[in-house]
Parts: sequence; structure tokens; C-alpha cells
Amino acid sequence: MRFLAIGAHPDDIDAMIGGTLIRLAKQGHHISYLICTDGSKGTQRQEEVAGMQATRQAEQRAACQVVGAEGVYFFNYVDGELEAGLSLRRDIVRVIRTVKPDVVLAWDPTAFWIGDTVINHTDHRTSGKEAMDAAYPGAGHATMFPELGLPASPTRELWMYGSNFPNVFVDIENEFAQKKAAVQSHVSQHYLDEDYLFQLLRDDNRWVVRDCDNPVTVKHRQHPEFVESFRRITLNRMPEVMGEIAPVWELHRGEDAQS
Ligand SMILES: [Zn+2]
Repeated sequence: MRFLAIGAHPDDIDAMIGGTLIRLAKQGHHISYLICTDGSKGTQRQEEVAGMQATRQAEQRAACQVVGAEGVYFFNYVDGELEAGLSLRRDIVRVIRTVKPDVVLAWDPTAFWIGDTVINHTDHRTSGKEAMDAAYPGAGHATMFPELGLPASPTRELWMYGSNFPNVFVDIENEFAQKKAAVQSHVSQHYLDEDYLFQLLRDDNRWVVRDCDNPVTVKHRQHPEFVESFRRITLNRMPEVMGEIAPVWELHRGEDAQS
């Protein structure tokens, strides 16, 4: 299967879903990344902005190596200024029709905040919205974006991360060390500071293990960093994939198994 992970900034994908992608890559699935902005505002120092794009792209490429991803696309829209609309959507459709993913993974665009400690960055929401609209009805609809000269590529599933309404919970305890290494490839983003790293990966994910009651969240009540979660939207369902990335717990799985 082919997976296209879409993020707004270098580091989004590794921090949010790195463990799941590592598992999928180990199982032989094809993983590609798409980063919508240049990451140039990933610094508080104005004098560092000019060099930040190259730094962060190099860091993202290093992280992709750790995860086992096959490639990464960069759009280089200006960090913090990502705007919803046809320009970004067309660019994403072009990548979807090139990569032909079965599954698109992207930020949940409905999450203005996540849990009770995170205001979700405007670029995250915008990239998620356009990723969703690019997957359907964009890339899969043959008469849309004909100027691209690329055949339609229907996406089978969307897995939206950073969601306040997850229905899939992946136990990434066995992948966590590798995920941590991938995240720490983003050296400019201060992840070598473990207090900062764990604030993001553990503390900001506490609401998931507190508010969601299932075998994965119960197991990791003390270690929320071992849980990744998605809102899985199935357009043309692939039931075998979730079994392959087990241990995983999915809401309504029992009902689905009967259908
Ligand atoms: Zn980000």
C-alpha cells in the first residue's frame, strides 16, 4: 500500500504520526512525505529566517531516513502564511496524482485546538483542509484540474491526525525509540531538549489517554507518548491495513467486522 503523509511544517509528521509510519515502512509499505511550508519561521530570531528553509529541509530529509520514507516533497509556501484555496489544493492534487496513495494522512482541519493544552497552528488547519479537499473531490475526480495532465487517483482512506475525535489508536511503544530519533533529527526545533520533547509527545497527548477509554489508552495511561491517534475516514475501505499495524484499537471495529 502507498501512504502520503501531508504536514504544514518539517517536524509535524514525525512528531504526530512517526511511530505509525515507522511500523508501516517496516512492513514494506511505501511512505512519502509532503511539507506545505518552508518552515522558515521556526525560529524566534529574525536573522535566522533566511537560512531556516534549507536547515529544516535537511533535517526533514534526515528524519525521513530514520522513518524509512521513500521521498519528500516540499512546496515552500511561507511559514505562517499558508492560505486555503485553489493554488495549494492544485499543488496537493499534483502530488497525490503522482504518488497515487491509497491513504492520505493529514492534520484534522476541524481542530482549532487539540485537547486542552494546544492551540492548533493555522498552517496545520489549512494544510489539513486542502489535503482533504485535494483527496476528495480533487485528485480522484477525472474532470477536476485537467490542466495538470495527470490521470485521476482516488484516495481510499483519510487518516486525520491531531484530531479531537479519534477513532483509531495505535500502540507505538515498540517504535518509540525510533520515533524519538526521527523527531530529534529536527535539531533546530530544540527536540534535543528532552523536557521540551516530552512536553510535546507526552504532556500534550495526556487528554487522549484520559478521555478515551480503550485497551491502547488504558495500557498507556502513564505513557501517553506511546499512543498515536487518528480520525480514520474510509471512502473505499482497506480492512487489512489496521490488522497489519496492530496493536491498534478502532472504535466500532466489531460492527465493521460484521459488515
Ligand atoms: Zn507545525
